[in-house]
Amino acid sequence: MRYEMMLPHQIRAAIEGNWPVVLPLGVLEYHGEHMAVGMDTLAVVKALEIVESEGNMVILPPFYYGAASYAVEGPEGMGSVQVDSSALHPFARELFTGLLRIGFRNIHVFIHHQSENFAVGMPTDLAFKFGARQAIFAFLEKTRGEGWWGDGSMADYYAKQAGGSDPFNWIKLHPLMTASTIAHYPFDHAGDGETSLMMALCPEAVDMSRHDGKRWYTESAARASAATGRHGLDLILAHVRGALGLPGAPSERK
Ligand SMILES: [Zn+2]
Repeated sequence: MRYEMMLPHQIRAAIEGNWPVVLPLGVLEYHGEHMAVGMDTLAVVKALEIVESEGNMVILPPFYYGAASYAVEGPEGMGSVQVDSSALHPFARELFTGLLRIGFRNIHVFIHHQSENFAVGMPTDLAFKFGARQAIFAFLEKTRGEGWWGDGSMADYYAKQAGGSDPFNWIKLHPLMTASTIAHYPFDHAGDGETSLMMALCPEAVDMSRHDGKRWYTESAARASAATGRHGLDLILAHVRGALGLPGAPSERK
């Protein structure tokens, strides 16, 4: 369900059922002359729209205003929107605090931008991860009081942590493409991989008559195809289902 369309009784049912609540996170960034600037975020939004119909989940309105950086291209006449990470993490902290107060405890964020080395992190995902951690610590201290972790009721913390159910798992960040996806599908910027993925997911965001191949990173887009994109999409969807614990996840298939 789309969060903005939910009625309060539906929100209460989602809390009661511990539905995944998912934020599509991304940027607006120059992707060559042939592709829309929203590519990184659109890829997340469109993939989530596919899995939305497969199980109980909530999709939050997407956040497009991440730290695109001007590493690829300056903004003048080219379209990249850079918001510094120092402005993002307080926003993320407030957003997550609000979601925790509503009652959600199964919050996920998916990002595609600069996520090729996700364990190390890049400004946008690190800012949201930092904001998530700050929100959880502050929320726990406010609702349980100082010393909440040292309390006897938390004696099973490490066992719960191993099982994935401690409070720090209330908010999880995921790359749209994992390392194993990248091993089987090209990860690039506006090249074959991203262009093919857009052709499969959102063809209106691609106009190959505008492709000029003048920049090194767009050269491989000349061989992009919707068929290649669908292969990548299958890998992405399997990962998303698994991360959200939806029925179509590989580990739950018979
Ligand atoms: Zn991209």
